[in-house]
Amino acid sequence: MKQQILKTFRGVHAVFRRRQLPNRIAIYGHELPPEQRQHFAACISHLVSMGYVSVNPREYAAVEGPSKRLFVSFDDNFADWYDSLALFDRLGISCTFYVTSGVFFDRSTRAEQKAFMNQICQPDEKPTLSVTQLKKIVARGHTIGCHTHTHPVLSQLSSERWDREIAHSKRVLERLIDQKIVDFSFPFGMRRDFSSTLSAYCQGLGFQTIATGISGQLYQHSIDPMFVHRTGWKSHLPIAENIKNLQLDARIYGKLFGRSVIG
Ligand SMILES: [Zn+2]
Repeated sequence: MKQQILKTFRGVHAVFRRRQLPNRIAIYGHELPPEQRQHFAACISHLVSMGYVSVNPREYAAVEGPSKRLFVSFDDNFADWYDSLALFDRLGISCTFYVTSGVFFDRSTRAEQKAFMNQICQPDEKPTLSVTQLKKIVARGHTIGCHTHTHPVLSQLSSERWDREIAHSKRVLERLIDQKIVDFSFPFGMRRDFSSTLSAYCQGLGFQTIATGISGQLYQHSIDPMFVHRTGWKSHLPIAENIKNLQLDARIYGKLFGRSVIG
């Protein structure tokens, strides 16, 4: 019944809640394999040609800044981010990569990597990002954010495990790349996967932004840095489909259900 209600709401949004592109666009994706890079490049080039300027999450949420901002991010330790560095350079964008600190290819066991891949519903034959690759990504000027140590559903964990998953992860990443980590995205990204208590805990650790994966929330009047909503990016889909998703104003849907309006 609930699924049917959600489906009906999504259908209504697809028809009646479509607007001009918002001035601030935040997107997130996961892997970026060679066969998907063409669609990705076409859409980013299109947005850049419209005057959107690539920014990190703090610049995205700031009151002052370019009138048109594009925050491009990726979650989940895919090694093909490293293979896409030349493409990001060509497109003239700087991205934010939210990484899970306990599953780097050269710093964790095969079993830990496999458990992570199962957790994010990916076939596990692909190698995860390595620390060597991570450091090269940083050297190219991209931003690294924290995405926990083992990618659990945080809202289902007892608070005793928060230190291990979040504070420890932040420290590990800071040691690895020798930079402060101040941006966080929580695994699975929907409202049910996080809480206001967790948000306060993250702020206490020094995080300045927290990103969600609740699509269709780009038309906010002001952006709360502790609740930066990103719209899901489907690299396997052509430009028109992704632009349509960015044009959905699903603020009411987001308030009611706390989840993504796109499938
Ligand atoms: Zn994730």
